[in-house]
Amino acid sequence: MTENHLASAPVVDLRSDTVTRPTPAMRDAMLAAPLGDDVFGDDPTVNALQDSLAQRLGFEAALFMPSGTQSNLCAILAHCGRGDEYIVGQLAHTYRYEGGGAAVLGSVQPQPLAQDASGRMALADVAGAIKPDDCHFARTRLLCLENTWNGHPMPWDYLQGMAALARDKSLALHLDGARLFNAAVASKAAGETAWDAARRITGLFDSVSVCFSKGLGAPVGSALCGSRELIARALRLRKMAGGGMRQVGLLAAAAHYALDHHVDRLADDHALAQRLATGLQGVDGLTVRSAQTNIVFVDVAGDRGPALLAFLKDRGVLATGLIGLRFVTHLDVDAAGIDHTVACVRQFFAQTDHPSAVSGGAGPY
Ligand SMILES: *Cc1c(COP(=O)(O)O)cnc(C)c1O
Repeated sequence: MTENHLASAPVVDLRSDTVTRPTPAMRDAMLAAPLGDDVFGDDPTVNALQDSLAQRLGFEAALFMPSGTQSNLCAILAHCGRGDEYIVGQLAHTYRYEGGGAAVLGSVQPQPLAQDASGRMALADVAGAIKPDDCHFARTRLLCLENTWNGHPMPWDYLQGMAALARDKSLALHLDGARLFNAAVASKAAGETAWDAARRITGLFDSVSVCFSKGLGAPVGSALCGSRELIARALRLRKMAGGGMRQVGLLAAAAHYALDHHVDRLADDHALAQRLATGLQGVDGLTVRSAQTNIVFVDVAGDRGPALLAFLKDRGVLATGLIGLRFVTHLDVDAAGIDHTVACVRQFFAQTDHPSAVSGGAGPY
C-alpha cells in the first residue's frame, strides 16, 4: 500500500504496475549517478545501462528510450520503410494502443491478425498473411510479438514456431517485451535464473523492447536492443521523434538499479496476483481469469462492473475496466492491500440491495 496524499487512508492502487514510486535505494542510485550529455554520447550512466542490458540479453547494442511506445516505434521504423508491412496481433499494444504511430509516422502498414484468448496468433494465419513479391502488395518485412500479453507469458514452443517461420520467410522478428521479465520469471525452466530465461527468449528475436517503468519499478524509461546496425538506425529515429535526452543518466540509474534488484522480486507480484485470484474464487457474479503473472482479469456478471469499481474506490482500492476489470500487482502493493481488496469485493457481492450503476453518471468508471 502507498500513502494517499489526498486522504489519510492508504490506497491500494491496482490500476497498473506503472504507478510505482522509486524506492529510497533507487533514489539514492539516481542521486549518485555520474551524468553527461547523452546526445553527445557522454552520459556514463546511460552508456553503462545500455551496455549492461545488451550484454545480459545477448545483443550487440541497446538504446535508452523515454517510453515503450517510442521504443517500439523506432524498432518498427528501423526494420521497415515506406510501403513495407508488419504482421502483428489484432490486440497487440504496438497495433492498438500506440496511436497507429508506425503508419502515421513511418508509412508502415500493419497487417493485424486474430489472437486467441491467451494472445497467440495461429502460425498458419501468419504464414498466409505474408505477401508474395508482387507490385499489388505491400512488402512484408517484420513480425511483431508481445510477451507477456495481457499478463500471459507466451509458451516456448509458440515463440520457437514463430521464430522459425520468420527465419524461413526472411522476416525480421521484433518483441514488444514491455513485461519481458514477468514472462521470464513465470516461464523459467528448472535450474534457470530469470535472466537465463529472459536471454533464452530474447535469443529468438532480432530486436526487443523492454520497459523499466512497469513492474521493474523505475519512474521512466524503456530500452531497445538489437544489432549495432539496427540500433544506429534507431538512434537517428529516436532523435527525429524528439527522444534525444541530455543528462538522462538520472533516469538510467533508476533503470539500472531496477535491473539489478527488481527482476527476481517480480515473483512476489505474481504470488500476490495469485493470492487475489484465489481470494476471489467462488464469488457469485464474478469469473476470475487465470493469473499467470501480475495481472488479474475479473469478469463481472451483468452491468455491475462500474458499480464495483466505484465501491472499491470509496474504500481506497483502484482498478480499471468496465465489464472485465483489471487488477495489476507491483512493488507498491502488499498482502494486506490484496486482502483488503478481496474483502471489499466480497462485501460488494454480499450486499442485498444490488446497485447496478454508478450514480452521477460521469464517465464509464
Ligand atoms: C506499456 C506498454 C507499452 C508502452 O509503454 P509506454 O512506456 O507506456 O509507452 C508497450 N507495450 C506493452 C505491451 C505495454 O504494456
